[in-house]
Parts: sequence; C-alpha cells; structure tokens
Amino acid sequence: MDNNNESNKKLIDVKDLKKKIKKELKKELLEEIYTELKSEEKEPTIDISKPTQKKTIIIEKSVEKPVPTEIVKSADIIQVSVSSVLKVASHALKYANSNIPRDEWVEVIGLLAGKLDNDETLHVEDAYPMGHGSAIYAEIKDYKNYVRAFNDIKNKKLFICGWYHSHPSYGLFMSTEDFGTQTRYQTLWNKSIALVIDPYLIDGTSFGFDIFKANIKTKKWFAVPFQVKGALNTKILPDLLKFIDPIIEGKAIYLEYDED
Ligand SMILES: [Zn+2]
Repeated sequence: MDNNNESNKKLIDVKDLKKKIKKELKKELLEEIYTELKSEEKEPTIDISKPTQKKTIIIEKSVEKPVPTEIVKSADIIQVSVSSVLKVASHALKYANSNIPRDEWVEVIGLLAGKLDNDETLHVEDAYPMGHGSAIYAEIKDYKNYVRAFNDIKNKKLFICGWYHSHPSYGLFMSTEDFGTQTRYQTLWNKSIALVIDPYLIDGTSFGFDIFKANIKTKKWFAVPFQVKGALNTKILPDLLKFIDPIIEGKAIYLEYDED
C-alpha cells in the first residue's frame, strides 16, 4: 500500500477529515462536559457511581459522531408501538377482506399519535381511525371528527405526528395525492410521517407497511427506517391478526361457553 499514490492520497484525506472531526468533537465534548459539570454543581448529594456513568455516555457519543453520515442515527429510527400496528392493520382489513368482493375494497385513513423522547426519537404510540373512502383514495372529510381526535390525542399527552392510509393489495408507495397530503402535514410539523399499509403484504415476512416522508424541494418521497417496539415480529403478525379478526366483524374474539 505504501507505494500506491492513490491510497496515500486517500490516507491524507482521511487524516484531514479525522482532524476536522476531532476538532468539532473537542468543541462539542467541552460544551457537554461543561453543562454536565454545571448540572452536577446543582446536585445536593454526590453519588460515586454517577461520574463514571456520565463519562461512559460521553465516550459513547464521541465514538458515534465520526461515523459517515449515511449511517442511520438511532434517533432517526421511528419507534412504532404494537397497538398502532394492530390498529392500522385491522382498520385496513375491515374494508378490504375476503368477505368483501374485491372491487368493493376501499382505502382507510387515520391519524398517528406520538411523542418525542429525550433523544428526539419519534415514538408512534397510537393510531386513530378517521375514515374510509373511495377505491381511489381516502381523505379525512369531516373536520369535526378531526377536532375530536385532536383533543383525545392531546388528553393522552400525545400529539399528531402524521397520518396513515391503506393501499389494499396494490403495494407501498406515495401517490401524487398522498404526496400533497404529506406536504401539508410536513408544513405543519417538519417531522410528520406518512404510514402506508398494504395488509396483503402481511405474510409472515413483513409488517405490511412503510413509513414515508416528502422531500418538498425535490418533490420526491422516500422511506424512513422504523422499528416495531417490544417483541412483535413479522412472523407472528398474521396469526395475531387472525385472532383479532372477529373484532373487525364486530364479534367477540372467542366463545365463552358460560355466556353462550
Ligand atoms: Zn395512497
């Protein structure tokens, strides 16, 4: 490698980059330590275990920062609750299932309620079914219902962090209408998300949905990474949905022999 000019140049570039990053880090670290120390000053009792804990956190951060920008930061991974997944999927299936002729399947639409944690990570905590529409696309038509949901979400100490709708059997993407809707959401709140679900993709290998955002400048949409919280995995989802299927039809989940 030593006699290769190009790799030498790369090495120099990397050195230069490292230097820059180190300088930035130093600045950030100093600021962090300074705030850290300042907050410690205010703490009445000294816990010996604390300083080492805090030191570890600082080291972790400094290791994390120099990584190239392509790598997703954990704060950019949207955390979706199990109940949101089940609610969105069952809402979508209610208006597009095998008991309904395929040409009568319609899309559903709803709101997503979430919160931000200390790392600014978005947690989608709940879903609010708002309506179902034409086979072409669904929209929230009734403003009164929107206000009602808005207040319910607020009372749960959550906020509207985006919306969801279904594409029964035609895949995960953003149509022109979807892009327009998402642009309006992002104008209200920059981090708003659009969840698109196709319940027919729930086959044991997929959650059947993707989360999208709009690049308003380039007029292009892109998928953002997400994670379903807890132990829910794609394998178990079809069985779970089958179990809650009667809810979709408004029946009891299981027969209670003493109540029958
Ligand atoms: Zn759509």
